[in-house]
Amino acid sequence: MASTPRALITGGAGFLGSHLADRLLGEGYAVHAVDDLSTGSMANLSHLRRDPRFSFLEYDVSHGLRDVGKMDLVFHLASPASPADFQRKQLQILAANADGTRHALELARRYNARFILASTSEVYGDPTQHPQRESYAGNVALDTIRGCYDEAKRFAEVATHTWRRAHQVNTGIARIFNTYGPRMRWDDGRVIPTFIHQAVHGEPLTIIGDGEQTRAFCFVDDLIDGLFRLSQVDHHDAINLGNPEEVSINTLADEILALARRPSSARVYLEPRSEEPRIRCPDIGAAQRILNWQPQTSRRIGLAMCLRHAQNPGQSSVSPAELLT
Ligand code: UDP
Repeated sequence: MASTPRALITGGAGFLGSHLADRLLGEGYAVHAVDDLSTGSMANLSHLRRDPRFSFLEYDVSHGLRDVGKMDLVFHLASPASPADFQRKQLQILAANADGTRHALELARRYNARFILASTSEVYGDPTQHPQRESYAGNVALDTIRGCYDEAKRFAEVATHTWRRAHQVNTGIARIFNTYGPRMRWDDGRVIPTFIHQAVHGEPLTIIGDGEQTRAFCFVDDLIDGLFRLSQVDHHDAINLGNPEEVSINTLADEILALARRPSSARVYLEPRSEEPRIRCPDIGAAQRILNWQPQTSRRIGLAMCLRHAQNPGQSSVSPAELLT
């Protein structure tokens, strides 16, 4: 009988890491998660406590990665990733993406595992090409608050390619665009959990700048599907994963206020952030071709799920049809 395949997730208690753990367990993997809980939370994993195929250790992977036996897949997700963290966790960001990536690559090398790096659309900086294709070299300002995160991820990509060339590690790189869904911390600082929390608590939505900046938001289940597919193919070049439906922050605010049945005037405009990208949208042609992947969840359904979750945190999942009644 074939043995159970095993996967390691660094950052396994985070928003994406915990959803990835669910998916891998569902696909028949045993999952070992590691997290220092600096931005992740055990609450994201509490439903897996009794699953004998799941294990967890709390520590910081930038200091080393404990060997708990053979792995078939190694996912390196550990890193603070919210713009709110770019200033207050800047040293951890550098360490997780430099030292942490090295340790995760070494583990993948030891066991001949496929290694997947969670990179980011931030490698494109404030883009002058739109939508962003993987071949675009980016426009990153080094000496800014964002520069630390952007360049740390760019270094992590280079390290990943280097381990593949130098040590023949089977590597893949996902450039993850804005993703949202249940289990994001409401005080994470990112726009969707912030707006949903404000809408549910009767507070005005805080729009930064004029609200005409754009983003493209991918529902978490879709993103995880893309990550899983990437782990199952031999593709080494970086690949964009995101939802290509671009929207302004003003329109996003309109949508959330309408879903929450709040007046569209419930918003305040705050000072713009000088170093943040004005526009962002993935070209997902490569993911469509190579992974046969594209997002399935509309923003309307995805936002409704988040809203329902914020209104009833204890409730288990609801069907999309139920949400739109
Ligand atoms: N944003 C906003 N209000 C907030 C938080 C964010 O208007 O309370 C804007 C932010 O200025 C940016 C967009 O929403 O243009 C997405 O921000 P987020 O922090 O979610 O991620 P980013 O795409 O900047 O990494």
